[in-house]
Amino acid sequence: MRIQSLIIVIAIVILAGAGILSLSRTEQRVLSGWRGPLAAGEALAAPESSAPVNALVGVAEPQGRGLDAALVPAGNPLRAPNTVLTQGYGVGTHAPASVWGAVDLALDGNGDGRADPEGTWNQPVYATHAGRVTITRDSWPGGNHIWVTNDQYRTGYAHLAGFAVSDGQWVNAGELIGYIGSTGMSSGPHLDYQVWVWRDGKWVNENPLNYGALDN
Ligand SMILES: [Zn+2]
Repeated sequence: MRIQSLIIVIAIVILAGAGILSLSRTEQRVLSGWRGPLAAGEALAAPESSAPVNALVGVAEPQGRGLDAALVPAGNPLRAPNTVLTQGYGVGTHAPASVWGAVDLALDGNGDGRADPEGTWNQPVYATHAGRVTITRDSWPGGNHIWVTNDQYRTGYAHLAGFAVSDGQWVNAGELIGYIGSTGMSSGPHLDYQVWVWRDGKWVNENPLNYGALDN
């Protein structure tokens, strides 16, 4: 009986410790742009609000000023001819597209036609349009995450290894903003890239491939 009691006490201590750890972990988490992979058999829950959770992180509503071409996302955020699409738009963890729409991009470093971690780690990531930077460090599931936002468009860059810009900084199209990593809910180095457009008073997710995300 004594040993059983001891085991129970130890179990309680372990469970309490795990609870405290998970609480402190939760407090550090900030929602950002990437849902991450589903577990086997896991269903994606419907968002609790009508607005996409992705679109709620620290960005003021657009002010409706005029639009010029530099504000529209265009091109490949990796600016590399050996870019490989590792997960498409609106499928897998990117479904439903209205909430989690994105493309995952990585690099083929050894020329075999497939993405590889060695060729992908720490490679540069560039803003695809002009806008203001919002940085979220160590978020979940997006890891080190950047939004680039202007009055009409915002793009999301998730799982970064590091940042090349500061929070609140204005960047131009083609400007270096960070480096590919595998932070947050990610199983290997890649860039999760999202495009949102401000339409009818809300942010609407768009397919980055329609904005040249795989162009070189
Ligand atoms: Zn993704």
